[in-house]
Amino acid sequence: MTLDHTHDPTARSWLAAANAAGGDFPIQNLPFAVLRRAGSGEPFRGAVAIGDQALDLAALAAAGLVQGAAAEALALAAQPQLNAFMAAGPAAWRALRHALFALLREGAAGEAAVRACLRPLAGVEYALPAQIGDYTDFYTSLDHAVNCMRIMRPDADVPPNFRWLPQAYHGRVSTIGVSGQRFHRPHGQFLPPGASAPVFAPCTAMDYELELALWVGPGNPAGQPIALANAEQHLFGISLLNDWSARDIQMWEMTPLGPFHAKNFATTVSPWIVTLEALAPFRRPWSRDAADVQPLPYLDAPANRAQGAIDIQLEVALLSEAARAQGRAPARLSGTSFRHQYWSVAQMLTHHTAGGCALQPGDLLGSGTISGPGPGEAGALIELARGGQQPVDVGGGERRGFLQDGDTVILRGWCEKPGAARIGFGECRGTVLPAISE
Ligand code: MN
Repeated sequence: MTLDHTHDPTARSWLAAANAAGGDFPIQNLPFAVLRRAGSGEPFRGAVAIGDQALDLAALAAAGLVQGAAAEALALAAQPQLNAFMAAGPAAWRALRHALFALLREGAAGEAAVRACLRPLAGVEYALPAQIGDYTDFYTSLDHAVNCMRIMRPDADVPPNFRWLPQAYHGRVSTIGVSGQRFHRPHGQFLPPGASAPVFAPCTAMDYELELALWVGPGNPAGQPIALANAEQHLFGISLLNDWSARDIQMWEMTPLGPFHAKNFATTVSPWIVTLEALAPFRRPWSRDAADVQPLPYLDAPANRAQGAIDIQLEVALLSEAARAQGRAPARLSGTSFRHQYWSVAQMLTHHTAGGCALQPGDLLGSGTISGPGPGEAGALIELARGGQQPVDVGGGERRGFLQDGDTVILRGWCEKPGAARIGFGECRGTVLPAISE
């Protein structure tokens, strides 16, 4: 990952809102989404965020302002789903990034024609950014694994395989929604405390999981694994993901296979995909303590050691129904950074393909819950509230052991450091509705 003029922290856009301090979408970011004007009924199209606006890529393509390889990439990125653009690979992604940067930069020619392609973010509605073929959710935060293990069995360690491979299960695509998703509390089987037989009833232990969504770019044919050194060329970008989890159902059903009803009712992703290119200034060394297990050779490479981690700041907030009614602000529950994750995004992608599994453009990989080492850095309520036993303060005199009906969970992410422009992911918002009565 090399830096170029598109990462220059002094670069400014002719769009004033893009230069505002603390904004998510300066000219150095340029994330992709699929959207349309809210309520318009017009076809969805690809777009790039800049300041408080979305640059409509279908309109931009029609304006004929972009030439050559960038124009070919633009035609793909303007489509109602980004799969073809994701499949086009890093050279196409970079060509379009550079062309958009040139058009939006302060002093660029053709400002009026580009300005005509802008749509206020406040007035758009989003679709999922790609047709997702498969969804895999990982489990790669050691701090999360340790926290969960201590709640269930205080004397136990994480299973030995955790330190040798990025663990994962296959999830459902059919119930993945974009930010703003509202879903009903699921029914399922679970064992009430002290009971000897399960009940089938609405979940009583609803939780969220703070995760990142990794969007696959070019895929691989079945039987042809992707080497770790090449893994990031197959990764288009990253958004936020909430892996809603029914803990009581999960506890009863998960032995000896993976989560099923506990996870398959809803998963929410944020609409904007931040490219790996935009994240380049925020790469960190990936390391393993010398005393810890070291990765097997197929999960180890100098580039991964040098900059496999990414310093993405993350935060979870909760807005209860009462808080909404009273006009209170969302309550911050926790915050951490993705840089603590035990396995890197490249290791997850490589391990996924290592047995011959084919990935396809637009496939979605969840990072697994992201918890950091310190107190207040847990990425799920089950950790913060110790399995529901120590409810957390959510403001206005309210406390939560698990989520209640009407609760909205808001995930936010951003990157910032001295010498780089701050970039953000926007937000990922979802709301628990009451169970459907029989
Ligand atoms: Mn998860």
